[in-house]
Amino acid sequence: ATPTALLVGTGRGAQLGILIKGPEILENTRTVDTVVLDKTGTVTEGRMALVDVLPVAGTTRDDALRYAAAVEQLAEHPVARAIAAAADGSSQETASGVGADGVAIGADQVHDFRAHAGHGVSGVVRTAHSGVGLSRRVLVGRTGWLREEGVDTTPVDDAVRRAEDDGATAVVVAWDGAARGVLVLRDPVKPTSAQAVAELRALGLRPVLLTGDNLGAARAAARSVGIAEDDVIAQVLPADKVAQVQRLQAEGRRVAMVGDGVNDAAALATADLGLAMGTGTDVAIEAADLTLVRGDLRTAGQAVRLSRKTLSVIR
Ligand code: ADP
Ligand code: MG
Repeated sequence: ATPTALLVGTGRGAQLGILIKGPEILENTRTVDTVVLDKTGTVTEGRMALVDVLPVAGTTRDDALRYAAAVEQLAEHPVARAIAAAADGSSQETASGVGADGVAIGADQVHDFRAHAGHGVSGVVRTAHSGVGLSRRVLVGRTGWLREEGVDTTPVDDAVRRAEDDGATAVVVAWDGAARGVLVLRDPVKPTSAQAVAELRALGLRPVLLTGDNLGAARAAARSVGIAEDDVIAQVLPADKVAQVQRLQAEGRRVAMVGDGVNDAAALATADLGLAMGTGTDVAIEAADLTLVRGDLRTAGQAVRLSRKTLSVIR
């Protein structure tokens, strides 16, 4: 491969909105046969909206949202941002949904906040109720994790299952050891994702969807962009995304991975070719070989086409 031709290819990439770390990366781009797509923020907008709050008997809707939001306002996950935005009523997406009126979370103080990657968040919320201080240990997250933390989720299990079967993401808020309500969120698929997947397929790549989210939400997203049900890998912990990429490599596949999150960084580095969404986190961009500057998944296919063209000219 002549360095000049590779540099020309790299320059052409920049024009298309593809930032390539080094000319030699075009070689790896040419040979991939599988493309693993992260769901949240890559195939979907990554901007979740809270669409429903379902409190259990004895809990008000406002309390369920208020305690969840008090803890989530300290977290950065799309789930957290949606819940916090709905509670303060400031987000555009939620203006027509729940929380448009806002609930009082300003007066609540949160101690011992912790984000549990791939699971949820926890914290102690201290509220002043007519002069009396009240402290509650609040957890918000996946039901499986809450059960591990000793929370009885039976009162919410049916509602969670229904929401997930319907393609939504459902997290549960619990305090004082009991499940108090379900928060239902939706994250729309980007309008360009279906076309992007079709183009990758036309180039001979097999698309696989990889996510920490539940199987129902993952399958709904896969269906709407044309990824086969068998190629959906859901409920994968952040640390296990790498293992999933390695498993595909062990099957003899040459794997490209597209992602945007902190959770994706290790998998991007492990893949034969890592592509980061330019709209994503710095950690993902640093770990990747290639950045899709505008966060447009369609440029992934263009990158493959460009490398094939550049290298066929050289050979
Ligand atoms: P993804 O791969 O879709 O970005 P993550 O691994 O980050 O997913 O999260 C997986 C699941 O863990 C989420 O779908 C959600 O159920 C739960 N979760 C993660 N962070 C939070 C949070 N801050 N609050 C509540 N639930 C969370
Ligand atoms: Mg993501």
